Amino acid sequence: MRHFLLASLFLPLFACAEPEPAVETCLEVILTGTQGGPPAVNGLAGAGTLVRYGSLANQCNDTRLQFDVGRGTTMRLSQLDLTPNDLDAIFLTHMHSDHTEGLIGLMQLRWHFTGGPIDLVCGSDIEAGDRTLSCRAYSEHIGDAFVESGEIAQRRAENSNRHADGPAGLISLLEVPPSKVPKVVWTSGDVTVSAITVAHIPGSLAYRVSTPAGSVVIGGDAGNSVSAPPRVSSTSEAVEILSKDADILVHSAIHPVFGAESGSTFPAVAYFRQSNAFDLGAMADRAGIRHLVFSHLIPSLDAESHGPFGVPGGPLGETDFAALAQEGGFDGEIHVGGELRLIRLTNDKK
Ligand SMILES: [Zn+2]
Repeated sequence: MRHFLLASLFLPLFACAEPEPAVETCLEVILTGTQGGPPAVNGLAGAGTLVRYGSLANQCNDTRLQFDVGRGTTMRLSQLDLTPNDLDAIFLTHMHSDHTEGLIGLMQLRWHFTGGPIDLVCGSDIEAGDRTLSCRAYSEHIGDAFVESGEIAQRRAENSNRHADGPAGLISLLEVPPSKVPKVVWTSGDVTVSAITVAHIPGSLAYRVSTPAGSVVIGGDAGNSVSAPPRVSSTSEAVEILSKDADILVHSAIHPVFGAESGSTFPAVAYFRQSNAFDLGAMADRAGIRHLVFSHLIPSLDAESHGPFGVPGGPLGETDFAALAQEGGFDGEIHVGGELRLIRLTNDKK
């Protein structure tokens, strides 16, 4: 009887209910650093991309994911009014310092202001000849210099809410084993992150973030699995699989002027493990990408040199990279570097 009464009370309500309007959501991709490789260049932060997703009403700011943490990332985040405590997860594409060195300061600051644990997603330990590339070791030792200097103990004496193990104690490590197919590595609500193993150095990963507002692939420094010509392309076969019909591809790009045939003395091993801008245009076209974003530019825009290596023919601008991608066959939107460059997608008008 009681059930019957409840049903009769509620039925009219259900019958009259309008369909809920879908929540408007958005995805933002922001370049937190565009410098390519280890050199320090005036005004450029090291490699990194912030991806955030959420309701339009909250300015896409519900979930915040940082991909790679190069030099100066914390400062770039501050320009977006974000602190290390605001990040929900961090993803590393590979264990090269120009992609990882900023994590040390970022985690120290998160520890200092008693931020909570954070997921760190990166490749599992991998043997490479007589050495091991280990994100695990990197994360476990992330605060060692501050522990050894006595700072961690000194600051804990002032505020015992700080984690006893220092910054390393805040990292929840999610190691990704090698995979030739995309695998889901992280999820939260409507956000899914997949990863695939790519060629660059052993253990390198590319990531795809999928949300109702759109998708973005972070290719990192990926290159072709054939490490030098002759080969069909300088781009990564795995990134191409991961990028199929993605809205945005953010990728490192090298200009062919750094090839030996242009007279460059740039090391061949470093040149051939990157994707060049022409081949990236061709790949983005095949994959059906809408926005091709070049970051981690080699050489940097308007630079006379890349570290000790001069730019043959003189400095390059945005159009020099963009023209190559177009010649490669890409006719979508091209974005060449730009610190804090922002691309926003929304679920109603992609
Ligand atoms: Zn690298």
